[in-house]
Amino acid sequence: MNFKKSQKLYTKGLKNLVGAVNSPVRAFASVGGNPLFIKRAKGSTIIDVDNNRYVDLVLSYGPMILGHRHKKVQRAINKALKNGYSFGASTQNEIKLAKIVCDAFPSMDKVRFVNSGTEAVLSGIRLARAFTGKDKIIKFSGCYHGHQDALLVAAGSGLATLSLPGSKGVPEGAVKNTLIATYNDLDSVKRHFEEHDDIAGVIIEPVGGNMGVVIPQNNFLKELKVFLESKDALLIADEVMTGFRSKFGGAQELFDVEADITCLGKVIGGGFPVGAYGARNEIMEMVAPLGGMYQAGTLSGNPIAMAGGISTLTELKRQDPYQQFEEVGKQIETILLAAAEKYNVDLTVNRFGSMLNPFFTNVKVTNFEEAQSSDTEKFGVFFWEMIKNGVFLPPSQFEAWFLSSAITEEDLAKIEKAVNKAMEKVAEI
Ligand code: PMP
Repeated sequence: MNFKKSQKLYTKGLKNLVGAVNSPVRAFASVGGNPLFIKRAKGSTIIDVDNNRYVDLVLSYGPMILGHRHKKVQRAINKALKNGYSFGASTQNEIKLAKIVCDAFPSMDKVRFVNSGTEAVLSGIRLARAFTGKDKIIKFSGCYHGHQDALLVAAGSGLATLSLPGSKGVPEGAVKNTLIATYNDLDSVKRHFEEHDDIAGVIIEPVGGNMGVVIPQNNFLKELKVFLESKDALLIADEVMTGFRSKFGGAQELFDVEADITCLGKVIGGGFPVGAYGARNEIMEMVAPLGGMYQAGTLSGNPIAMAGGISTLTELKRQDPYQQFEEVGKQIETILLAAAEKYNVDLTVNRFGSMLNPFFTNVKVTNFEEAQSSDTEKFGVFFWEMIKNGVFLPPSQFEAWFLSSAITEEDLAKIEKAVNKAMEKVAEI
């Protein structure tokens, strides 16, 4: 396996692109080496410009839940393209996708489509403030909610990978209403309420996916919701990653918790730029043109993106792959743990349906601090050996791996072989 063409493109890309990437998580900053350039993908396989083939466990960081270029999705997009790409006016398909989303999430009567997860969350936060008339928002360290100023503190994802505490260019004023709590620690939330009486709500990834996979323990989400109700504060569920992924109705269905405001992205666009935020009528009626909270978008509800979303969610519902995800996820977890034991490597695996990842630590990982006890050097060695053996992973210890319903038995055999080789290499350092 060689990466000559990727290397060439990387060097060329550095001239007019920052780090030759358009999102820092795509850089290989914490694993060393240069990013791979992708030529095409089909099903569970992704192919780079050097014609190396990989089982894709990145899946565009989540959206490609049916695998790449599912034929029904492709057909729907081709059809939509023939009618025009953007109108700046309403279309029937927006209503159709809104119904699919609201039917799946009982906590939402109405939804507003935007173009990314970041937009969904920044609008959801504005809405929480508009509805409650309060300014402060609590977020959990290690959770990532997109790159809006107010939430770029103690964030996971690329910031965790690059060891950045926050972002330069964010004025102090922009984060003065952001309070930080510890995931899985309700007391850390309660303490903020003892000190402040102007907290609008708490934003949470109901399953953490941006510090690696971190699962809510015991009844954390339910207890959080009950507590917030008692304080007239809102629960804002950032289901950009978990929506339609762990269950059709997201983590809220699985944990039987209803958020006040829900933010979505990734899977709802099936690979096209779509985000959404939604809530019960009483809250959504605050949004313009019904209410005084302003939020808009030239390309929002884009017809091609709506076609991608409708066809992806319709096929996802038909396939109902959640049991398959559970089984395949369990198989990969077992492969990882068996290899770690064989080669005597400290490893913790966290898994939630079709999201999982290994942490190179012997600590149980239930929050960001515990995740950060992982040995990132070992992850780097592991990552490259997986690449060389044909498995495409996110280039970071702190990103989730994703499964698609297109994964095959052969893919699993390839993953098993690669994991064993990679773990053997890790054991050598
Ligand atoms: N929230 C969560 C939970 C996410 O995982 C992400 C992206 N990984 C975002 C928000 C931001 O979404 P986007 O990258 O589409 O702006």
